[in-house]
Amino acid sequence: MAPETVAAPGETQHRFPCPSCGADLRYDPTGQQLKCDHCGHETAIGAQGPWGAAASVREMDFRAALDATPGAVDYEETRVLTCPSCGAQVEVDERIHAQVCPFCATPVVTETGRNRHIRPHGVLPFALGEAAARDAMGRWLGRLWFAPSGLQEFARRGRRMDGIYTPYWTFDADTRSHYAGERGTVYYTTRTVMRNGKPETVQVANIRWRPVQGQVKRFFDDVLVLASRSLPDRFTAALPPWDLSRLVPYAAEYLAGFRAEAYTVEIGDGFHEARAQMDRIIERDVRFDIGGDHQRIHRIDTDVANVTFKHVLLPIWVAAYRYRGQAYRVVINGQTGRVQGERPWSALKIAAAVLLGLLVAGGVGYWVALNQDSLSTIRTY
Ligand SMILES: [Zn+2]
Ligand SMILES: [Zn+2]
Repeated sequence: MAPETVAAPGETQHRFPCPSCGADLRYDPTGQQLKCDHCGHETAIGAQGPWGAAASVREMDFRAALDATPGAVDYEETRVLTCPSCGAQVEVDERIHAQVCPFCATPVVTETGRNRHIRPHGVLPFALGEAAARDAMGRWLGRLWFAPSGLQEFARRGRRMDGIYTPYWTFDADTRSHYAGERGTVYYTTRTVMRNGKPETVQVANIRWRPVQGQVKRFFDDVLVLASRSLPDRFTAALPPWDLSRLVPYAAEYLAGFRAEAYTVEIGDGFHEARAQMDRIIERDVRFDIGGDHQRIHRIDTDVANVTFKHVLLPIWVAAYRYRGQAYRVVINGQTGRVQGERPWSALKIAAAVLLGLLVAGGVGYWVALNQDSLSTIRTY
């Protein structure tokens, strides 16, 4: 079934009419301002709002948000389409009834209605425009050996990329952990063994274990958790690092001309994942605190206090494309240009390389044989 209306590039619910011609302004990453593609009019972000470069993104109380304490957080309602294939929820304009999923290129025609969620607190504005993102993808494809020859050209030509603000949670917390375990110290003893019929003295390593207990403390700042599952881990794990010092208070202007994905990982589940990240670091702290040559951990009890969170949107460029009937995805960090993706392999190029390798090996062997021959010739004189 063909979708009735497919969203045109840059169509989102965040619209800002150009004061001079009435066309839609969009956020321009290169100039970090709003720009009209139609007449070239430019407007600075922040000129019309209370936010500015100096404003920082406020931390929110996690408990209050989890208990849905009235007034703890601001909610907003947006209209979203849900992808039946990857589960992504992409925010759309009231007029859009169908769209191609930017994450997996599946035509999405589902009407899912409205989605009520915690309003984002911060946004990391795109620093990389579409042209720069396309260049980063081109360079990445160009570096790849064994990609089919036509692919780079194909990927460059008319590949539309989607600039998507992806939902994340960040958590801060004070932790204090009591632990019980054992410290292992290596000591050596000598032993006499029979070797070849003769007695011989050898050093043997032993470990002496002593029970220990103690306490470690750590303040966690901005533990980052992806609040969406529409991209496989292998993509998102490769996107960091993010420079979160560049976060600005949420303003819809930054979303003009881009898409925003709604979070599908709830805040409670997000905190679970953040705790897992914290626990790995606490375990490392405990091992360090135990000291010695080896450590055994029997128990860690962690008190977590003063948990705060932020809901932030981070910028990624996504290109989902089909090449010879197969779907591939390339994801680019919209702040740093770091690329992670899938690409086809050329069987022909691999075969050629293997053949070349064999020829080189054969050639070297022939050369060695020749030189040995000439050496032996010299010797006989
Ligand atoms: Zn204009
Ligand atoms: Zn999808």
